[in-house]
Amino acid sequence: MTSSFSNLSLAEPLARAVAEMGYESMTPIQAQAIPVVLTGRDVMGAAQTGTGKTAAFSLPLLQRLLKHENSSTSPARHPVRALVLLPTRELADQVAQQIALYAKHTKLRSTVVFGGMDMKPQTLELKKGVEVLVATPGRLLDHIEAKNAVLNQVEYVVLDEADRMLDIGFLPDLQRILSYLPKQRTTLLFSATFSPEIKRLASSYLQDPITIEVARPNETASTVEQRFFSVSDDDKRRAIHQILRTRGVKQAFIFVNSKLGCARLARSLEREGLKTAALHGDKSQDERLKALDAFKRGEVDLLVCTDVAARGLDIKDVPAVFNFDVPFNAEDYVHRIGRTGRAGASGIAVTLVSSSDARLVADIEKLIKKKIDLEAVEWDEDRPRGRINDGRRAWREGDEAPRERSSERREGRETREPRESRYGRSAPVSRDPFFERPYEPGNTETPPAWEPSVRTAARSAVSANIKPRRKVAALFKSPTPPTTAG
Ligand code: AMP
Repeated sequence: MTSSFSNLSLAEPLARAVAEMGYESMTPIQAQAIPVVLTGRDVMGAAQTGTGKTAAFSLPLLQRLLKHENSSTSPARHPVRALVLLPTRELADQVAQQIALYAKHTKLRSTVVFGGMDMKPQTLELKKGVEVLVATPGRLLDHIEAKNAVLNQVEYVVLDEADRMLDIGFLPDLQRILSYLPKQRTTLLFSATFSPEIKRLASSYLQDPITIEVARPNETASTVEQRFFSVSDDDKRRAIHQILRTRGVKQAFIFVNSKLGCARLARSLEREGLKTAALHGDKSQDERLKALDAFKRGEVDLLVCTDVAARGLDIKDVPAVFNFDVPFNAEDYVHRIGRTGRAGASGIAVTLVSSSDARLVADIEKLIKKKIDLEAVEWDEDRPRGRINDGRRAWREGDEAPRERSSERREGRETREPRESRYGRSAPVSRDPFFERPYEPGNTETPPAWEPSVRTAARSAVSANIKPRRKVAALFKSPTPPTTAG
């Protein structure tokens, strides 16, 4: 199998774009998928985000679209010829940006439509004519119904993160969208798992697909150093400071299970002098993108986020991911730590484990098929326990956080966000309005902006995912001897 782009005979404008991106050799999914997609065959691909999957489908797709490239200004000469469907706005935005980069030296036009944003600018773009349309299903249907998007000339459809789309409850929307497409087309389906539902979807909509599998969904990248620290709830923030310091880590994602916990932790860390932003479902799309941009530019060091942000965010070279809370679903662990160690870079994933997390850790251990050793944090001798030294205001144990955290743990189950389906605001937080608002459990399920078709399904998916706790015997009985965090 060739691994150099130069062996692919990519059209010059695409080869130039790839060279400008600095890609030297193909990733495994690219080496396997590109030649197949170039032949026009349907593909069923299993690959995690971060494997170079977007280029794996978009480069060959663009190459084929180039056959009928034209520079006409007439919208009619630029019908939608390729449709890429994704479950979330962030993913759609990110994939659209990548496609625009790969296509930048061509005359092919692309745009993205997703919910939570004004339809008008999207409509204007669609009316100009675009060959490549990237979309989330709900908003695409809105545009189809408004006759802004016409799909009867689509030659390629990509169902990306298909498992996630089904999880969210997009199946009826997908079926409707696919019913508008010509039968004669190439269909590419990418999914983290090949569950029976995915196989059923594939057998209904793909013709004689080639299956490509580069990484099983429970595999974590080998470039990620995974560490699990046994630490009390009260010491978790201090542990973050300690590990950032001893590892010399500058930027990190910190994952929290609930929106409330996210806003509070971000605010606390900000107060302690760390440049922090929160990314959770009560932030507007605009604020979330701003927070991401600020992180990418290095203006923000810590991005505290819920699982809404866990999948597909294309932020390269995050040196560290912290799980401030052990995720409720082991699969989310894999997705969370996928933010680091991407495309060959090394990274560290630190999970802070408190005594009530035994079952969740056992679930992760089972999924990743690796024995998890719990370590103790090696605290700096000169830094008093419970005190954080590098903030504008030192935080003392008992100050406010322990009370917050214990209630947070209880509330987490009610307030945690439906997976990948809720969107709101995001911005660097100094005073986070979410935090200022009184906590009202009844109100937390109605964020300002997310696709209505997702709402019910996502809510039931969440309740379905909350499994009863079962006892796990020995995990915490004999913690491994302390080792350094560094
Ligand atoms: P993806 O899995 O498509 O989200 O890609 C993850 C990241 O890898 C993106 O930032 C891409 O720009 C980058 N990438 C994709 N293909 C390559 C490649 N062949 N060499 C280096 N980086 C790549």
